Amino acid sequence: MSPWPATPRGRRRRRARRPALRSRRSGPDGDPSTHGETAAFRAAGRQPTYRGTTMTTTLSPCWYCSGLILQFGISRLVVGEARTFEGRHEWLAGHGVEVVVLDDPECAELMTAFIKEHPGIWNEDIGESS
Ligand SMILES: [Zn+2]
Repeated sequence: MSPWPATPRGRRRRRARRPALRSRRSGPDGDPSTHGETAAFRAAGRQPTYRGTTMTTTLSPCWYCSGLILQFGISRLVVGEARTFEGRHEWLAGHGVEVVVLDDPECAELMTAFIKEHPGIWNEDIGESS
């Protein structure tokens, strides 16, 4: 088990009319490139097409994960909260991704607590580490 706690990021990606797929928290393998979005994407396996799929995240995806969404043509992004990290919603929407921000207080509380407890991991995760 990794000594590093994981950022509680995105959780699942699913294709319409298929069961939701869940990933574990991001980074349990100690790999800083493993975010919830990438873990969920990998867990879902290859799809004949990514059109019609939805990525659901706790908070806004970072640039890296936003690129993943565009690269594979994921159609819809559902974001739990965008208070702790704004993300690039307009950029995604400008490329045809439907973006829904739920502004869920529970997601915001989860992320606020995580950031307070693990500021170094948070900064690394959002590309702010120096
Ligand atoms: Zn990310």
